[in-house]
Amino acid sequence: MRACRLAGQVAVITGAASGIGKATAAEFIRNGAKVIMADVQDDLGHSAAAELGPDAVYTRCDVADEAQVAAVVDLAVKRHGHLDILFNNAGISGAIPQDDMASMDLATFDRVIAVNARAVLHGIKHGARVMGPRRRGVILCTASAAGVIPVPNIPLYSISKATAVAIVRATAEPLARLGLRVNAVSPGGTRTPLMMRVISEMCPGITDEQLKLMEAADTNMDPEYIARAALYLASDDAKYVTGHNLVVDAGHSAYKGADVPPAR
Ligand code: NAD
Repeated sequence: MRACRLAGQVAVITGAASGIGKATAAEFIRNGAKVIMADVQDDLGHSAAAELGPDAVYTRCDVADEAQVAAVVDLAVKRHGHLDILFNNAGISGAIPQDDMASMDLATFDRVIAVNARAVLHGIKHGARVMGPRRRGVILCTASAAGVIPVPNIPLYSISKATAVAIVRATAEPLARLGLRVNAVSPGGTRTPLMMRVISEMCPGITDEQLKLMEAADTNMDPEYIARAALYLASDDAKYVTGHNLVVDAGHSAYKGADVPPAR
């Protein structure tokens, strides 16, 4: 078993106060990286960074605001001299339900696109600005299996995640000219606060007990598995992987509806 696959590297992870972002910060630090954890939940972010130790630091960054993304990238360079990995992971589901097309709330669409898709371009732009001159760096984003097969109750979210994948594919070539890689990881159902919020909003009558059972369901992954996929894409093991969407969903999007247990 190899350790320290990111020795000496510096990473910025957005949406790092919780869930997949926090698990990835822990995984990157275990592998030798220093991590700037960016989020809008300041109390949670500070306590998550304290929990992860001296190689983690928290800073506030609303990814929907390009200037704040630029600032967190600059902070990484100022603090550590360089930036190697930028993980655009922050995401929101948007107001739910969003499946009544006749009364679609386009303000929800704008917000979901701003955080889940436009912000990926903020990261790519400012990541390229500081990584391009060194011809070294990896940009990642968290898309979703919902971007591969849309989830009926959350079409606007599904559109935003398919867009994030389109951004990764379309920017792979111009980033390659700068010597940079860009990839997406697309989780299926993962045990995080976002997932539990989506379930409780999609099923308004659900009891706490039912919610707990759903949270514990075998089909919900622990965020550590997404963190390990991000580690692979961030590391030199994926040196020749770019423009890729790594789907981590126990086969759901490959054989949805088939009467087989999820692969593990
Ligand atoms: P989470 O709610 O635990 O974490 C998301 C984090 O993003 C939160 O800490 C939140 O404060 C932060 N955030 C939200 N808006 C932000 C903004 N404007 N600027 C900065 N930070 C912001 O949920 P999670 O499941 O860990 O989500 C991480 C990513 O994974 C998201 O992009 C989500 O869409 C994606 N995803 C999650 C699942 C799942 O089942 N949990 C599945 C597929 C994709």
